[in-house]
Amino acid sequence: MVLSRHINPESVIAQCKEHAHKKDHPVHTRISSYRRDEDAAQVPKYTIPKEGIPSRSAYQLLHDETQLDGNPTLNLASFVHTWMPPEAEKLFIENINKNIVDLDEYPAAASVHNRCISIIADLWKAPKDCKPVGTATAGSSEAIMLGGLALKKRWQEARKVAGKDSSKPNIVFGANAQVALEKFARYFEVESRLVPVKASNGFIMEPHDALEYIDENTIGVMVILGSTYTGHFENVQLMSTLLDELQDRTGLDIRIHVDGASGGFTAPFAYPNLKWSFEVPRVVSINTSGHKFGLVYPGLGWVIWRDEAYLHKDLIFELHYLGNTEYTFTLNFSKPAAPVMAQMFNFLNLGFDGYRRIAVKDLRNTRLLSRALEASSYFSVFSEVHIPISHAVDTDSDDPEGYRRGLPVVSFRLSDEYKQENPQVQQSWVQTMLRTKGWIVPNYNAPKNEENTEILRVVVRESLSEDLIERLVTDLLEIVEGLATPGNVLVTTGVSLNIHQPDREHGRPDKSNFGGAGEEKEPVGFSRPC
Ligand SMILES: *Cc1c(COP(=O)(O)O)cnc(C)c1O
Repeated sequence: MVLSRHINPESVIAQCKEHAHKKDHPVHTRISSYRRDEDAAQVPKYTIPKEGIPSRSAYQLLHDETQLDGNPTLNLASFVHTWMPPEAEKLFIENINKNIVDLDEYPAAASVHNRCISIIADLWKAPKDCKPVGTATAGSSEAIMLGGLALKKRWQEARKVAGKDSSKPNIVFGANAQVALEKFARYFEVESRLVPVKASNGFIMEPHDALEYIDENTIGVMVILGSTYTGHFENVQLMSTLLDELQDRTGLDIRIHVDGASGGFTAPFAYPNLKWSFEVPRVVSINTSGHKFGLVYPGLGWVIWRDEAYLHKDLIFELHYLGNTEYTFTLNFSKPAAPVMAQMFNFLNLGFDGYRRIAVKDLRNTRLLSRALEASSYFSVFSEVHIPISHAVDTDSDDPEGYRRGLPVVSFRLSDEYKQENPQVQQSWVQTMLRTKGWIVPNYNAPKNEENTEILRVVVRESLSEDLIERLVTDLLEIVEGLATPGNVLVTTGVSLNIHQPDREHGRPDKSNFGGAGEEKEPVGFSRPC
């Protein structure tokens, strides 16, 4: 039997349908809801319906379709928060129709926003003699764009004052950077200088290595507190010290932006003794995601500058709006107020101790999962937050300071022993098999230079309880033992276990834009340039 390489499901459905009005509306571009007959409705799929359908049909149609989405609680791939208490949800709904930019109309929301800035600046140890400024953003990505732009403006101005060329800015960060950092560089025409990372160093930027990439055109260094690959923290303090020495040697004054997308809301609570924030003099700005360990639903980010002097006036717009004067320095104008309310809800509801309790619990669960994976001998763990920092430490202690620092993330791979015994097993199959049980655990390649290493990663969020970890370990062990069983159908037939994604072409750039992506086996990490 010859199998056609690709059957278009929409065409098959169209051929097989019975419908009286086939000619009027191309059947394959229609979707319909099914409930009781009185609610059933058919609408075109890719064009706006001429007449609408009843709200309950529209709801049903989309409600049913979203049943195909993964279960957010079991989505261990994401850092983004997936659970808030009912009172927070109530508050969210009550404020869902407010725009935070309308400061005059919603003065309470505006004041809550400003108090959030103040609370976060304080958590990040903004010096008392400084005037910190900041804003809510859609997420860390927007916050990183703003942090980067402020660095660029500051550099450009200094170059102009010195009568020097300001046309070739560059920015330095590790090859483990999240795509938002590279986006900043590309969107705002700054050369990105990626510092290669090594497996031996936890796939993060080593500050000494970064120095080689810095020159007079460097607008700043972005240091990542909580690498998305493994959860490792880059060393902000060491970077700052090395930049002090660089300034002594060369006169170059290079400042730091910390990408604390995840670390910004974990380090202050789990590692109060770690110096990474505004205590470190060269740190001029920090971003975080309220919707990650800020424990708020998406989308919310924050960016804060240690002092208003670092937010160049060119980035600030004075709005004379509805009789009031407001200042804005975000990329987006309108933004929902509800996530900001939810952030304040958490500050009030949890307090410092509550955030700490959750951070400590997440890290305890991270250690449990890490140890269980290692104890099975099927897996090796890359993340290090389960490794005690000295032999004297009481391994039953809950204090994260007794262990290596990092995010509550377990990154791991099949052990060498398992791979030797089962050379036919591909690690990516573990991801697919877990998906059949509802778990979403990504398998991806390590950053540039180490891209031949495949990493499985579990983010241990508040909702991943000890009970769920036990279920996850049970399923993981069953899967790898099953794959090792002689005669396992997946292994013997060599089935390629790619998760089917219906409709994946629609609304995406043409495939040719991706340099022939699709079938080929080139290893890719979280992102790659097109
Ligand atoms: C998630 C993440 C980002 C992007 O943050 P969003 O809030 O998703 O825009 C940037 N950097 C790091 C290190 C991240 O983990």
